[in-house]
Amino acid sequence: MVISKPSLIKKTFQKSFSVIAISLLSFTTYAAEFLVKTPEAFKDTVKNLSPGDTIKLANGTWQDFEILFTGKGSKEQPITLTAETKGEVILSGLSNLRLAGEYLVVSGLVFKNGYTPSSEVIAFRENKTEYAYHSRVTETVIEDYSNPDKQESDYWVGIYGQYNRFDNNYLAGKRNKGVTVAVRLNSKNSQQNHHKIDHNYFGPRPIFGSNGGETLRIGTSHHSLTDSFTVVENNYFDRCNGEVEIISVKSGKNQLRNNVFFESRGTLTLRHGNGNVIENNVFFGNGVDHTGGIRVINKDQIIRNNYMEGLTGYRFGSGFTVMNGVPNSPINRYHQVENALIEDNSMINVDHIQLAAGSDAERSAAPLNSKFAQNFVFNESAKQPFTLFDDISGIAFNNNVTNSKPLSELKSGFKVEAIKIERAENGLLYPVGKNIGVDRSISPITKSETGPSWYPKTAGQTDFASGATIKIKPQGDALFNAVQLAEDGDVLVLAPGDYDERKVIVIDKTLTIKADKSKTAQLSFERGAMFEIADGGSLSLDGLVISGKNSPDSSGNTLIRTKKWGMTANYRLVVQNSEIKNLDINHSFHFFVSGNGAFADEITLSNNSFDNITGDILRLDRELEDLGIYNAEYVTLSKNTFKDVEGALVKLYRGGSDESTFGPHLNMTNNKVTNVGNGKRNKSKSSLYLHGVQVTNVADNTLAESAQIVVEHTVGQPKTSIQNNKLSQDVSVVELRVSGPHTAVLENNQVVAK
Ligand code: CA
Repeated sequence: MVISKPSLIKKTFQKSFSVIAISLLSFTTYAAEFLVKTPEAFKDTVKNLSPGDTIKLANGTWQDFEILFTGKGSKEQPITLTAETKGEVILSGLSNLRLAGEYLVVSGLVFKNGYTPSSEVIAFRENKTEYAYHSRVTETVIEDYSNPDKQESDYWVGIYGQYNRFDNNYLAGKRNKGVTVAVRLNSKNSQQNHHKIDHNYFGPRPIFGSNGGETLRIGTSHHSLTDSFTVVENNYFDRCNGEVEIISVKSGKNQLRNNVFFESRGTLTLRHGNGNVIENNVFFGNGVDHTGGIRVINKDQIIRNNYMEGLTGYRFGSGFTVMNGVPNSPINRYHQVENALIEDNSMINVDHIQLAAGSDAERSAAPLNSKFAQNFVFNESAKQPFTLFDDISGIAFNNNVTNSKPLSELKSGFKVEAIKIERAENGLLYPVGKNIGVDRSISPITKSETGPSWYPKTAGQTDFASGATIKIKPQGDALFNAVQLAEDGDVLVLAPGDYDERKVIVIDKTLTIKADKSKTAQLSFERGAMFEIADGGSLSLDGLVISGKNSPDSSGNTLIRTKKWGMTANYRLVVQNSEIKNLDINHSFHFFVSGNGAFADEITLSNNSFDNITGDILRLDRELEDLGIYNAEYVTLSKNTFKDVEGALVKLYRGGSDESTFGPHLNMTNNKVTNVGNGKRNKSKSSLYLHGVQVTNVADNTLAESAQIVVEHTVGQPKTSIQNNKLSQDVSVVELRVSGPHTAVLENNQVVAK
């Protein structure tokens, strides 16, 4: 609370006095409870509330209700806003909540089926002058409450003011741009805030596909030299995959402790601000791609007693990273690491520990006056995980223990021992018979200890073939109708016969469509597309024969497409063991076209044959604004044959210089390709066109009589490997932004002339 103004001191005094007066009587006498059933009743009631009072929203769905909850409670007698029954008050449509005043408590509300029309779903302020202090939001749910325009930015929770608490809440499924929870320091009365963020369940946040997908941010670069004193403890971060920063600390003197990060892509990043303490946190990567740990930048950071296991991330997403800084850095760049204390941590099966990372002409200031001591570094493969990018003599290494031969620069700071590890009762791995690394008393918080107890933690995607099996016969609109009636996860099994679809089949749930006996169901379609994937949809096709023979005689038909624009949910597409042929009615007949803004977590084509197609196979090049946005994270082509395809196999485009994403990834192995990419309308003049793809593996393919493979590297440090292929032309790799030779690995490719 601000106590610089005399008037406020007086008020505080008066309040203490009144509390004493009341406590001499009885609390219950004065605490009233009001049940309201309409927004108008809420508004009328809220202005008359006294300390100790409770206002309850009646059970049911409240549509488009923008709640403004103001009042002055006291420490002993807060004013409470809650649900008639916790979990049974649903705020939907264009609803949100602002709270401003002192000693307010909000609990039991559920935000779903809508989105906020303002910049926050929950704001700890009314406007730019009226803030919340000593207030609490607890046991509240925000689920899938995402703006339908994915690029429209908002926060789900904006914490302003001072001494506020955000605890035991459930937040999952944010799909639009913007941090899930932001602690703001953009006014004096929000600084040195001493907020507490604890016991929250941060459920799955899907890959956003560009910058702006952080789960928690404390401060911004502008105010980053200000202290925040925010405590973040006992939270569970479950698959928070939005972008490279799970948590972005951008202020000073925060404490982040006892949090668990489960299979979350990205890192806890100390991006700006000094004197933060990161301790007793547990990172379980389980070998999932791009899982990371902690990234250290700035001064006086303490990283102590943290446990990191099974983290695969590299570069700025590594299991552990200490960055190089920029000399006399501007406030929004990289301040030099100084006086970092890194001790008693366990790094077990962490693939990459990178020191002086990001060293380049600009980031030339190596870490200074820092310590790396009593850490336990163990890799089952016995592969040592360190990479040094610059002079690390500013980090003193002492009494660390490892099982793998360290780099010569680190030798004196490590004891190398043959060590056995064993999982203890707390779920963590420890060296047998040794006392090194994290303390044995550490007790990682479990999922069930976070969030409201009454709200089930079921967020996440539905697996293919996890539902019922439904048999379909080739009659009329049987397939179309069955898709309408199916439930998420169901499998539609097609009896042998011909299926001619006269309407576009919209897929808005996870569905598998497969032939009862492989390749006995023949499908064709009469509209410009056969399947359209919409929000909530994911499609798996298995063992089908699909032909374009009944499609309209116009250009640009597509077998499968997403909604043309405006999708916000990520989707998956898997096609296997199928025969796709004669997509040749008119020109530019494509197999798959992504809509603008659509994003696939996965597109997998395996063991199919594609024959006689006048367009492209996968068009994933809709984001031409060069904003770092792209259309698919993992694209896999394996064991297919492609013959006589006029367009390219894949056009995958990620433009711009943003470095907040890990993808896209392209994996193409064991395919047989004949006469692909030679059509006159194929402007890319390539059989495979990859622009800004971050991870590429093209191996063991045969490309005969086909156009070039074209790879364009942009930013990041793309990993491109093209090996053991038989090609009809040399691969083209160009660096568009970085000078010098290209960084792709091209080995054992055999070029066979036509
Ligand atoms: Ca970011």
